[in-house]
Amino acid sequence: MKVISVNAGSSSLKFKLFQMPGETVLCEGIFERIGLEMGTSKFVVGDKKEKTELVLADHSIAVNKLLENLITKDVVKDLKEIVGVGHRVVHGGEKFFQSVVINDEVFKTIESCNDLAPLHNPANLIGIKSFTEKLPNALQVAVFDTAFHQTMEKEAYMYATPYEWYQKYGVRKYGFHGTSHRFVSERAASLLGKKPSEVNVIVAHLGNGASICAVKGGKSVETTMGLTPLAGLPMGTRSGDIDPAIVGFICEKENKDVAEVINMLNKKSGLLGVSGLSSDSRDIGNAILAGHERAKLANDLQIKAVADAIAKYAVYLGSVDAICFTAGIGENATKLRKNVGNRLSLLGIEIDLQRNDIRGKEKIISSDNSKITVMLIPTNEEVIIARDTFELI
Ligand code: AMP
Repeated sequence: MKVISVNAGSSSLKFKLFQMPGETVLCEGIFERIGLEMGTSKFVVGDKKEKTELVLADHSIAVNKLLENLITKDVVKDLKEIVGVGHRVVHGGEKFFQSVVINDEVFKTIESCNDLAPLHNPANLIGIKSFTEKLPNALQVAVFDTAFHQTMEKEAYMYATPYEWYQKYGVRKYGFHGTSHRFVSERAASLLGKKPSEVNVIVAHLGNGASICAVKGGKSVETTMGLTPLAGLPMGTRSGDIDPAIVGFICEKENKDVAEVINMLNKKSGLLGVSGLSSDSRDIGNAILAGHERAKLANDLQIKAVADAIAKYAVYLGSVDAICFTAGIGENATKLRKNVGNRLSLLGIEIDLQRNDIRGKEKIISSDNSKITVMLIPTNEEVIIARDTFELI
């Protein structure tokens, strides 16, 4: 049984085709620069990689090319072999607490969440439409970034803002990266030889976007992102939490409107904004070695925020069985993991330097004396999407 997991962005379409239930990856790739003058496609089948330049007028053309390629590259003989398509959907508001089969009503409900994620949800819906047209016999499934966090208590998800904002517009914390937090916390339980319901885990998903989640007995109880993915930790280009009064202050000082300032908080802040150099933590690391002070400051702000959030969540959980690092930075930045560990010595955390000298592999990186086990667990959002789709089939 073949299931494809899809992540449609505003100008990109990422996919992975799985043979289920074994979860073998048959083919994966990405279409980028959709809607621009010239686009690109990347395909990986086994150890064969192919990159092509082509015009991709819209998402439906990219889906056509994808399916065409699956046949010509002999990955599938007949498109009917693909029985399920799992779509990553960023915002499900308060409407979805688990993955669902997409029908007209679900489609409309996702559409009604568009104002909560105006950059992401419309693109996700275009992906759903295109695959529904091209693969009418396959089950279309929506897997939400927000769903895993729907178990948070009101004290964790409400803001101390006028209550009517919540009632009228749904202003509350939703949280994101849910599929990643779910996958990593389940793997952590398994590595500890326990069920997810038996352990408390803190997951630090540190990529270009970054969030931390407190998982109690398999359920999300707190997370750093909020109504939107702008909140929480400083990220590649996002500010994370700031005093909200800064928005009005800068609007006045620079004669800008709110949308412009929010755009700067999304695209020109974080590592990029503070360092003035780059949003990529590898560039920041190299600049620190060359003595660049603002690169060091950008890095320090991120490390402090990560350690602060973990400490806060340890208190909220009461006891912690594992702290897990994942995503591009979490899986690769050995120094950052070490520095975060050092800041958490009060919790009895001790990172083992030799064990921590590793990238992208599942491993315990704390010492045997550490009071809390610290792990590196590579995330795998696509497999969760494929698993949920397969289960719904
Ligand atoms: P993601 O969003 O999960 O793909 O993560 C992307 C981020 O991971 C990039 O911005 C890089 O800063 C970071 N990253 C990837 N590889 C490394 C590495 N070897 N060392 C440090 N950071 C890395």
